[in-house]
Amino acid sequence: MAINVRLLDHSSDPIRSLYLAYRTAYSSLTPQRIADQIESEKITRQQMLDFIEKRLETGHASPLEQVWFEFAISGVSRAFSHQFVRHHIGISFEQQSQRYVAFKKGEFPYTIPDTVRDAGFAEKMERAFEQLGELYQEMVESGVPAEDARFLIPNAANTNFKIVVNFLELLHICDLRLCTRAQWEFRQVASQMRAQINRTFPELAKYIQPKCGDKRWGYCDESVEDWQKCPIGKKRPHKKHLFELFDAYRKGEVAPLAEADFKIIEEIGSSVVTPALNAPKPSPPPHLTSSTATLEAPEEPPSTRDEG
Ligand SMILES: Cc1cc2nc3c(=O)[nH]c(=O)nc-3n(C[C@H](O)[C@H](O)[C@H](O)COP(=O)(O)OP(=O)(O)OC[C@H]3O[C@@H](n4cnc5c(N)ncnc54)[C@H](O)[C@@H]3O)c2cc1C
Repeated sequence: MAINVRLLDHSSDPIRSLYLAYRTAYSSLTPQRIADQIESEKITRQQMLDFIEKRLETGHASPLEQVWFEFAISGVSRAFSHQFVRHHIGISFEQQSQRYVAFKKGEFPYTIPDTVRDAGFAEKMERAFEQLGELYQEMVESGVPAEDARFLIPNAANTNFKIVVNFLELLHICDLRLCTRAQWEFRQVASQMRAQINRTFPELAKYIQPKCGDKRWGYCDESVEDWQKCPIGKKRPHKKHLFELFDAYRKGEVAPLAEADFKIIEEIGSSVVTPALNAPKPSPPPHLTSSTATLEAPEEPPSTRDEG
């Protein structure tokens, strides 16, 4: 079964809701008066968006709790759902039950990961699931309750969710689960949530990024080794390098621009080569000499880890 995520419903107007919450915090006006201003279009949509953007830059995040999204999620595995429900603040789940929903004829939908297929194990896995399904059916027919027969059902079995999540928690979940270190299935669900919100509210979807994104923390806090393996690592700095840079700056070791640098600025890309260009090149600042080599991450697929 393919993963499917659909945005079913949301706060009636998330932009208005965010603006009202932020404005209430920073204005002598009552929220009623602010609502009237929005109603009468004294405050434009663009003004609301600009205000929200500025406030978000400060890290004032609690108004995001007042905006909610309702999603239908289907075709995900129990391996995924186990990770999903570990998020518990600002999110409410309803998940298909394996106690009340017995699998008819012992047939359960399941997911086979691409790595299993690529390694040639798909057929063996399918046969094993078929046998488990037959045994499940035999047990249910002999009176074993579905809640106990399900002890046979593997992590690969599919499940469905109907959830409500507030925007603050959605951003947090995507910080972690859009990271290339997250499990592939969770990355796909988080990506589909982002795509769904982007269809209706692109102004909000732009904030839905992995934690290293320019609108989130902006840097990677995974291990340097994992950062080197990450394809996004080429675009985002690692926390360690930011501290190295800060340390070099504090010690006055960050080299100031020299006249030779200005010559490069002036002449780079120009076909006119003047004698000045042949002058010795300035040394790169110390913080870069130590880390430039590691800034280029090798082309390797991201590793994943699991909830265990
Ligand atoms: C890549 C990856 C690998 C993982 N591997 C494992 C693993 O091997 N084993 C394992 O058991 N788990 C693992 N986890 C799960 C992880 O430990 C968390 O359980 C999961 O990310 C949800 O936790 P959260 O704090 O983000 O919860 P959320 O409910 O999403 O929390 C939101 C925020 O609320 C705050 N918060 C939440 N709970 C509390 C609390 N009790 N008290 C105070 N503040 C709170 C925190 O600031 C938190 O960031 C993994 C997660 C990721 C992303």
